[in-house]
Amino acid sequence: MKQIRFFIALAFAALAGLTSCGGPSDVKQTKNLIIMVPDGTSTSVLACSRWYKLAKGGEAELAVDEGLCGLVRSYMSDAPISGSAGAMSAYMTGLCQQSPNISIFPKANPENDFYPVDTTRTFQPHATVMEAARTQLGKATGLVVTCYFTHATPAACTSHSYSRNDDQAIGAQTASFGHDVLFGGGTKHVTPYIKSILDDNGTEYIEDDVKAFRSYNGDGKVWALFDRNDMDYEADRDPETQPSLAEMTAKAIGILSKKKNGFVLMVEGSNVDHAAHANDPVGTIGDFLAFDEAVKVAFDFAKKDGNTTVVIMPDHGNSGITIGSENYGGYSSRGLKDAYSGVVDFKCTVSALSDKLRAIKSPDEIPSVFKEWANVDITPEEEAQVRSHFDKQVTDYMNIGGSLNHVVSRILSSRTYFGFVSGNHTIEDVFLSIYSPSGKRLEGVHTNEELGRYLCQVIGLKSGLVAESDRQFSPAEKVFDGCEMSVDSSDPVNPVLTVKNGDKTMVLPAYKAYVTLNDERVDLEISTVYMKKNKSFYVASRLGEMMK
Ligand SMILES: [Zn+2]
Repeated sequence: MKQIRFFIALAFAALAGLTSCGGPSDVKQTKNLIIMVPDGTSTSVLACSRWYKLAKGGEAELAVDEGLCGLVRSYMSDAPISGSAGAMSAYMTGLCQQSPNISIFPKANPENDFYPVDTTRTFQPHATVMEAARTQLGKATGLVVTCYFTHATPAACTSHSYSRNDDQAIGAQTASFGHDVLFGGGTKHVTPYIKSILDDNGTEYIEDDVKAFRSYNGDGKVWALFDRNDMDYEADRDPETQPSLAEMTAKAIGILSKKKNGFVLMVEGSNVDHAAHANDPVGTIGDFLAFDEAVKVAFDFAKKDGNTTVVIMPDHGNSGITIGSENYGGYSSRGLKDAYSGVVDFKCTVSALSDKLRAIKSPDEIPSVFKEWANVDITPEEEAQVRSHFDKQVTDYMNIGGSLNHVVSRILSSRTYFGFVSGNHTIEDVFLSIYSPSGKRLEGVHTNEELGRYLCQVIGLKSGLVAESDRQFSPAEKVFDGCEMSVDSSDPVNPVLTVKNGDKTMVLPAYKAYVTLNDERVDLEISTVYMKKNKSFYVASRLGEMMK
């Protein structure tokens, strides 16, 4: 009953959105769309970042401020707190999703579902706004992130999997999609299979070479990756080895803006989330401000271009970070210097300080490391804690408990007035900031599903994403009804489907954007998807006709 009442409330909220300023009838279509996601950014990060800039002697303004126009209710189909995979999947598909899914139709979870889930489609890949922008409108596409490129947020743009951790399937689909531009981290995920896909579709691959990235001036497809895993936090970044998010965004826009049919670009400030999980104020604020610089780049381009919409929204909150902890008594009569005491002296993130401690030759150097990099005089008790955690690594960035990083985080936070609810995602609405050349923006409070539908309207898709899902990702047994099918799983990560009917034989390798029909290559718009969860292939519906 509770769920039904919630569903009715959602329906009314959606109707209200349809009739308010900036609703669908008012949406000005633009040739280009830039979607920007500061991952795991609680709304309080805005104020913390503005005041931080002022405390460091800068201007207390953010680029996102100019576009702030509402809030987004981010939740999953069966949980009020979102994970990154489900939250971004909802933005990209316009359908509320579950953890840990990447842009698929969810399964039913009757105990917790907020509304009825269509179980006839469970596990079917759900087409995304970025995929449809290219297949229906011929737009160029790009991804710019600071995490590894198979991470949840970029994954949800053009990949489909039951699990966000299915890096090889996600990486292969991302490569097969043939993005015009992909910049970020994650060289370790470029397997020989993925490299062969990039070679096949003519993508130039730049690896850990910032000079080659900066001098690139081609107009073909290009990837540039800068770290085995995630790129460095902004506070720790060496500009001689890694570009900033703003620089990568500018480079991507420079390439994409030459494409005649326009483009859809997704830019993620990925590591805000990682720093919030670690309860790291400098990491969180530093990476949000780096994201804000990228927003300025996008806004400046959109204003000059006159045919670009920029939509900015975090996927969920994280950690409840804010200033005003228990030890900040008398808060309303204390000044800015007080509020930011301690934190303005931190020269690096919790992660970097932990690595510096691991690198010292003798434990006697512990106090001097804290003094040099954080201006902190540690107590003997704290030093003992550090000593006993030297070999404790972070095994999961979402939960650093028990690691040296956790000890460092606690020591640094105790010298500030920052407080955190936890190292987990939090239940909260996230901010919405939009630039539209028409001056009309989506305003007010909207759900993540509504944002997904708004993105489709901004670029003027010809048909909906459910129809697009059936066009690109129908179950193989339905498409090839009456044919003989077999699966070669000798490479279990990348199985191959073979379909036979009379003298016709079609071979469909998983995650590749082509098939062979009697040994003749047939290119596809989107790759074939193998869904491990239900051991099923999902294929382009037009292939069925070719086998008759
Ligand atoms: Zn996230």
